[in-house]
Amino acid sequence: MSNKIRLLPSQLVNRIAAGEVIESPASALKEIVENSLDAGAKNILIELESGGKQSIKVVDDGHGMSKQEISYALQRHATSKMPNDNLYKILYFGFRGEALPAIGSVSKLTLISRDQDENHGWIIVLQNGELGKLKPSALDKGTIVKIDDLFHKFPARLKFLKTEKNEAEKCYNVIKKLAISKPEVSFEMRSSGKIVFDYKACINPNMLAKRKERLSLILGETFHNEAVSLNFKNDEINLTGMISLPTMNRSSSNNIYLFVKNRPIVDKKLIYAIRIAYGDMLPKGRYPVAALFIETSDENVDVNVHPAKSEVRFRNLHKVTSFIINSIKIALHNNSNKSTRESGNNAIRYFSNNNNLFSKSLVKNSNFDQKGFFNDSPPKTNEVFNEDIIELDFPLGAPKAQLHKTYVLSETKNGICIVDQHAAHERLVMEEMKKEIVDGKVSTQTLLMPEIIKLSKDQLESILRFSSELEVFGLHIESFGNDEVLVRETPAILGEINTELLLKNIAEELLDFEGSSIIEKKINEVIATMACHNSVRAGRKLNSDEMSSLLRKMENTPSSGQCNHGRPTFIELSINDLERLFGRK
Ligand code: ADP
Ligand code: MG
Repeated sequence: MSNKIRLLPSQLVNRIAAGEVIESPASALKEIVENSLDAGAKNILIELESGGKQSIKVVDDGHGMSKQEISYALQRHATSKMPNDNLYKILYFGFRGEALPAIGSVSKLTLISRDQDENHGWIIVLQNGELGKLKPSALDKGTIVKIDDLFHKFPARLKFLKTEKNEAEKCYNVIKKLAISKPEVSFEMRSSGKIVFDYKACINPNMLAKRKERLSLILGETFHNEAVSLNFKNDEINLTGMISLPTMNRSSSNNIYLFVKNRPIVDKKLIYAIRIAYGDMLPKGRYPVAALFIETSDENVDVNVHPAKSEVRFRNLHKVTSFIINSIKIALHNNSNKSTRESGNNAIRYFSNNNNLFSKSLVKNSNFDQKGFFNDSPPKTNEVFNEDIIELDFPLGAPKAQLHKTYVLSETKNGICIVDQHAAHERLVMEEMKKEIVDGKVSTQTLLMPEIIKLSKDQLESILRFSSELEVFGLHIESFGNDEVLVRETPAILGEINTELLLKNIAEELLDFEGSSIIEKKINEVIATMACHNSVRAGRKLNSDEMSSLLRKMENTPSSGQCNHGRPTFIELSINDLERLFGRK
């Protein structure tokens, strides 16, 4: 080595820190707004230009900084947030004292601030590491931070930035997370002069109520109205929050908001735990909407493990994940017959947005002729099904008609329900099978003629490897010759099925199973595969007794709000919804 060891100049050190802490406008914004919150701000205004690429401005009404503090603030490792030098007792979002100098080393950072005790504010500029002069400036209160031209002098970083829209979106997300964590603070976000959101401060003194109010603004009213609340505690952890019904799900985990000690964090393992807890109630590759708040004492969690402070390390991760899984399972179980109104609401939105289109198609479509629609005689359904007032009191109501051999239409006390009979039945079969398996009494049907089924080498291996487990499910299989199996018995509940197709699907399901700890999940998938093969009620005409029995069974079956693929089994429209649809309201 020819170069001598030396201490790096501070400008370079700051740039190295920026490499870790600041990777986009959103990460710079996060640091600035965290500072505002740490300074006790109650109102925060954020303005972006070009998705933050051109400029980010944050105005707060916090306690501000004195002249002396301002010059310290721009130096590395200068912080007011570690009064006791204890990295395990962190009371603020910040503690590393490196954000401002790091940002100022890769942009033009302007800082204006005023301490309550001073007559005016002070302004200073740190441009690509060059510190300007401290000058007096007019300012009423608090702090203004402006970041211009982030990375403009650093093409290697600039080129990794996404489109303006994309970067803006990331900025909104950063603020949404902080807004959930601090519902008592108002946040206004503007982008290129337009207001994107304006969350007013929630004044309810109760933290849970405040959070709920803020979540309803950020995650929507439907979520707020029907989400399942969590409130669980063990010796180490206090878990609160709200999670969506399984039928309200999304294609990514972006709508799962996690907070540890009220700090927004990212944690793949916790997201995985949540996913496991939903189990077969969610379709493959889908995620719930959720906000979870984990409280634990200082010694159980280390927050100083990530430069952007967005990850934490739990002393006992396993304990945390299993507590989350169990809590969510219990909460979902207690609400398992419910289905989201999201689809109903979407339908209303769709119809209201397509009002013209809808009425045009009514005129054109010959099925909707005058006779069918404005007929004076009472609808046929009333003749066929004698109305049972008592049934109206059940959650899924009294069945009125079957449509297209697929949907059961029922009248409830406050509206109507449309049930997808096939999806519902599939779920009922699955839950029934699970119950039989748990009780250890799966009833089987012996095939008159054992079926011989030819499988590929892989399929054969996986099926035989699990043959004793499958026997517990009521599927009796023996190896037969080189590449065949013999099936003697199948689960009675499935009725008459295509055994070959069932076996092949199960084999495929088991193929990617590597004996990991998620055996329970796999078993559920196998049961789901089996239940799917029961086609008794698919496209079948049901009489009124059968329809009633289907609805009553659904009400008494856990998880009946969604089919085995996580789609809703029924959609509910209230009288109010119907009135809105028909423009009566
Ligand atoms: P940290 O937040 O880790 O302390 P920063 O570099 O982000 O480090 O900020 C340095 C210091 O500047 C903070 O400790 C705080 O004292 C002060 N500061 C930064 N922003 C503000 C603000 N908006 N209002 C009041 N003080 C601020
Ligand atoms: Mg900070």
